[in-house]
Amino acid sequence: MAERITGYTELIGLMATPIRHSLSPTMHNEAFAKLGLDYAYLAFEVGNEELKDAVQAIRALKLRGSNVSMPNKKLVCEYLDKLSPAAELVGAVNTVVNDNGVLTGHITDGTGFMRSLIEADVDVIGKKMTIAGAGGAATAICIQAALDGVKELAIFNRKDEFYENAVRTVSIINEKTDCKATLFDLDDTESLRTEIANSAIFVNGTGVGMKPLQDESVITDPTMLRPELVVADVVYIPRKTKLLELAEAQGCKAINGLGMMLWQGAAAFELWTGKEMPVEYIKELLF
Ligand code: NAD
Repeated sequence: MAERITGYTELIGLMATPIRHSLSPTMHNEAFAKLGLDYAYLAFEVGNEELKDAVQAIRALKLRGSNVSMPNKKLVCEYLDKLSPAAELVGAVNTVVNDNGVLTGHITDGTGFMRSLIEADVDVIGKKMTIAGAGGAATAICIQAALDGVKELAIFNRKDEFYENAVRTVSIINEKTDCKATLFDLDDTESLRTEIANSAIFVNGTGVGMKPLQDESVITDPTMLRPELVVADVVYIPRKTKLLELAEAQGCKAINGLGMMLWQGAAAFELWTGKEMPVEYIKELLF
């Protein structure tokens, strides 16, 4: 790294808290080095209170851009000049691009997820998707799925503080896209069974399956899963969640959240550099 950095090197940031555990700095710096691109990527511990100044610093220091993660993904929209169509609909941003002082916000979580399905040879276009979740990850997936041409979406969430998000997501999808979205309570297991029976894919977009909920699954009844159903999980630690174990035991194709993680990063990398991330190389290096 020391040999690589000169007075010309352009900086890309990551603004979130907590952030020291993130794989993104390694992923992007290794990819820059591999392609011989003169950028460096650094993580900055930034919360809501510092965010406005941090975004101003992107302009003042002429950073090429930044990733943004929790708790800043929604708030950052207020400080940017433009939003991509998907970021506008999701109401959140994970990637900022600085074009000569004009800051545009993008959200690549949804495109990352959809790309991970393509890479796993799963085609959901024109089909029905059932998804559990209404937080950041699930909302980005729902909006992108609808924009990409998924025909129907059944969204399930428990009646917690995220339920209102799902109400908003469903109304945006029904108003602004050709996809038909419907919202259900996650406790309504009979509707969950029916919607999954009519779907090509079931997605867990909640944190269930990850610490401290690593022993739990949003689906516990294996008879809800048939072998032709694809089951995807946004969680990637552990690689095989309880849900994916159950799905594999039923003969379903099971996809974890690693692909989503990798491809959201690849999409951001391309927005900043105009180059494709060497994904196979990064996959081997990190996973
Ligand atoms: P969030 O806090 O915005 O949303 C949490 C969601 O989980 C809500 O829908 C909430 O209702 C639901 N939930 C929480 N506890 C639950 C429980 N006990 N039972 C049922 N539902 C419950 O979180 P997020 O940012 O959307 O992240 C969700 C998960 O997705 C996390 O595990 C995160 O690590 C993962 N994630 C993965 C990627 C990736 O690239 N693979 C990207 C973002 C997030």
